Amino acid sequence: MTLDAERKMQFLYALRSKGVTDARVLTAMERIDRGDFVRGLFTSRTYEDMPLPIACGQTISQPSIVGLMTQALDVQPRHKVLEVGTGSGYQAAILSLLARRVYTVDRHRRLARDARKVIERLDLTNVTVITADGSFGLEEQAPFDRILVTAAAEDPPGPLLAQLRVGGIMVVPVGQSDTVQSLIKVTRHEGGFDYEELRPVRFVPLVEGLAQE
Ligand code: SAH
Repeated sequence: MTLDAERKMQFLYALRSKGVTDARVLTAMERIDRGDFVRGLFTSRTYEDMPLPIACGQTISQPSIVGLMTQALDVQPRHKVLEVGTGSGYQAAILSLLARRVYTVDRHRRLARDARKVIERLDLTNVTVITADGSFGLEEQAPFDRILVTAAAEDPPGPLLAQLRVGGIMVVPVGQSDTVQSLIKVTRHEGGFDYEELRPVRFVPLVEGLAQE
């Protein structure tokens, strides 16, 4: 086995051992190569289960957390999904193999542009990358079957709750950025919302407004 193939096997093994057991999620994570989304100094650590720095002071999330969040989101083939926090585009690419349509927004123009390039190169035609403040959601495409937030909010943002379809699920890290955050699964039903706390996590903060670059 080549070193590359061996690293990828270890990558998948690490996902399973951390609780990513959903076959569709594992298949998607096997098909989308994290190497396409990691650049520069850190490429040697691409297949390690750790978050890595990307441009604009942001991070590409830890693969096992990407897997666990995707699994909790329970995406089905007919779903329209919103991701808030495109970052590298890695999570959006994985979602694109599971959903009908993916909209992903980032407040950094530069990150959105770079992610769009990779996603186009990989021919993932059901993903739209948009530069916007995702704390307001994406009104023109609402409602969404699933919403995934990959930056930590103090509370699940009201506009995102409003743009979640009845029966829909939102997964969002909640808490202050420098303290412990909890990953929350929100389910919308006819009469309101159910909240389930999944696990402690650490994400960069959800920041309001567009960034400078
Ligand atoms: N999902 C990404 C990692 C996200 S890092 C990946 O797969 O690589 C969190 C991202 O959220 C950062 O890129 C940051 O710019 C973005 N972000 C923070 N606040 C935001 C907001 N209000 N609207 C949109 N994006 C935001």
